[in-house]
Amino acid sequence: ERTVQRIAAGEVVERPASVVKELVENSLDAGASRVAVSVEAGGTEGIRVRDDGVGIPEDQLEAAVAEHATSKIGDIEDLDRGVATLGFRGEALYTVGAVSRLTVRSRPPEAEAGAEITVAGGDVGEARPAGCPAGTTVEVDDLFYNTPAREKFLKRTATEFDHVNTVVTGYALANPDVAVSLEHDGRETFATEGNGDLRSAVLAVYGREVAESMIDVEWTPEGTDAGDDSADAPVRRVTGLVSHPETTRSTRDYLSTYVNGRYVTASTLREATLEAYGGQLAPDRYPFAVLFVEVPAGDVDVNVHPRKLEVRFDEEPAVREAVEAAVEGALLDH
Ligand code: ADP
Ligand code: MG
Repeated sequence: ERTVQRIAAGEVVERPASVVKELVENSLDAGASRVAVSVEAGGTEGIRVRDDGVGIPEDQLEAAVAEHATSKIGDIEDLDRGVATLGFRGEALYTVGAVSRLTVRSRPPEAEAGAEITVAGGDVGEARPAGCPAGTTVEVDDLFYNTPAREKFLKRTATEFDHVNTVVTGYALANPDVAVSLEHDGRETFATEGNGDLRSAVLAVYGREVAESMIDVEWTPEGTDAGDDSADAPVRRVTGLVSHPETTRSTRDYLSTYVNGRYVTASTLREATLEAYGGQLAPDRYPFAVLFVEVPAGDVDVNVHPRKLEVRFDEEPAVREAVEAAVEGALLDH
């Protein structure tokens, strides 16, 4: 049974970035105002995510790392809203625990003392008292231990770190009201202030030159109010920031897109954004973009690849048109 569990987990936990994604989502779900991510060797040698969220009471630690454990009834509503927390359903910690040495240390702010629990290759230890600040710290060591097949697939640590960076950046930009930081091998990659301002988050992540080149995007279908839920338009709103056509990079990793508040990847959104720049981009150059798209519930298909961030739209052409118009409009106005 243990072997089956490990194989299943090895398929689900694709790489360090998939673990980071789940842990950061948990921290955000816990209402954290600070989320500190720190990884070693691209995450292959250690991952730590610390937050100041609601915490986990000692008597619930064991349940948190158990199979099918979730305290989030809201997840069902998320599904209805069209874009769910992708990946595991109450199984992230359980799955990670099956292929690593996982420690969850936590103290709800109102509790006097904290506690921790360790899972090693699926063996759950006992919860015991541990001193810690309010909030939760999750540590993942020896990822893929006992799953050498998966370990072999890992790329250079630089590549793994790129994936981690992309994921943490995505959540940092989607949550400007949360102070998100990332550290690699003891060096800070970025730290946002969590002051609620998207431009300030962009500054922290991409630097001053990029932040200063950013142009506001604000689009709603004609004849509707911003974000009007009752409107039956296939796209209700497109907002965010896009960089001046001269502020570009040579990879497309700098396009962050969100649908109904969730961080996603969708070729439609990327293509529409690039299309809007038209001939203004130098060959093989890509802009920076942070785009939030709001569509009606149920119009997004998250099951293209259940373990990934890729989504597809029912009203694909309309979404494409709206995003293109939104970005084009922003670039023109500028
Ligand atoms: P899910 O997020 O789908 O519920 P997980 O395996 O990711 O499943 O987490 C299991 C449970 O552990 C959560 O429902 C939550 O109650 C608790 N938990 C996990 N991470 C945190 C955290 N950072 N802060 C507070 N509670 C957490
Ligand atoms: Mg989770």
